[in-house]
Amino acid sequence: MTDRQELPILVIYTGGTIGMRGSERGLVAAGDFGSRMTNALALLPPGRQGSLPEYVVWESPHPIDSSSATPADWAALAELIARRHQDYAGFVVLHGTDTLAWCASSLAFQLQGLAKPVIVTGSQKPLGVEGSDALDNLEASLKFAARAELREVCVSFGGHLMRGCRTRKWYTQDALGFESPNWPLLGEMVDHAPVIYAARCHDTSGAPRFECLTDPAPVVLRLVLWPGIRARDVDRWLNDDQIRGVVIECWGSGNLPEDDALLGVLARASAEGKVMTAVSQCPFGAVHLGTYASGRILQDIGILSADDMTPEAAHSKLTHLLAGELTPQALRQRFLTPLVGERGAFTA
Ligand code: ASP
Repeated sequence: MTDRQELPILVIYTGGTIGMRGSERGLVAAGDFGSRMTNALALLPPGRQGSLPEYVVWESPHPIDSSSATPADWAALAELIARRHQDYAGFVVLHGTDTLAWCASSLAFQLQGLAKPVIVTGSQKPLGVEGSDALDNLEASLKFAARAELREVCVSFGGHLMRGCRTRKWYTQDALGFESPNWPLLGEMVDHAPVIYAARCHDTSGAPRFECLTDPAPVVLRLVLWPGIRARDVDRWLNDDQIRGVVIECWGSGNLPEDDALLGVLARASAEGKVMTAVSQCPFGAVHLGTYASGRILQDIGILSADDMTPEAAHSKLTHLLAGELTPQALRQRFLTPLVGERGAFTA
């Protein structure tokens, strides 16, 4: 496998800290990133520069702080990649770190059957600032994006390559940035060269099955339990016809309070057709809804196990499936099936 491809890489700049500049109000999203990126990469030692692939930069006319990103932004990104899929060897998406794992998860479900690498990255400090991680992340992402054996949406950050729909932002400031708690690294930068662990990568076959989200995306609520949560509050939140799905973040292996009023509210929402799934508040490991009596009741009222999915992946997957025209039964069956390597334990 060579690092050089005949087609260039498309770098898509959406905003985020990597391209931010200081202002009176603090860091703000800024444009003119392509030339800044090219100038910065030109400062790399010749050996490292020589192994960079050719690239073209597309800049969003309205770069944003990703804390304001919405599913419409992910849909626009997926459409751009789907439209230009044949024209480039791979894609690098430059994104703010705050919602980067959400974007990567959504892209993975929208771009199923990808035949090329889509590498999402950003940085904890702006490009050009002393001690910035931006240049290392740009170099790594370009080099990973040129690896034809990668056929999925990945996150490259802090020298690590991770499956996009398995990542979570883990550190507010550390250059590692992200972790992939339930799936091992897909690759690493070693001495500034990309190393891929092929046996851990997603094996796609067949034609791409791109299905970009339409605007507005289905509304999926995220319900995080805390001790003392009141049924009446949950009832108010769920009592909304526009809400079509709910991701419940349970305790441990999938438990919730044995509170009949709360269970009644969830059972009613489920019976009304809201699709509900349970993830764990623990970052490592999976939910097993049958283990405790307090978790088995979730199964009884039709709540789907999210297994070891991240909340970001469970939410994006539910949003994506609800946007399609699936029967309730087909939707439930697809939710429980791994589509892009988002659920299920790794076995070596
Ligand atoms: N607030 C920034 C953003 O998500 C943080 C970052 O990029 O690291 O765009």
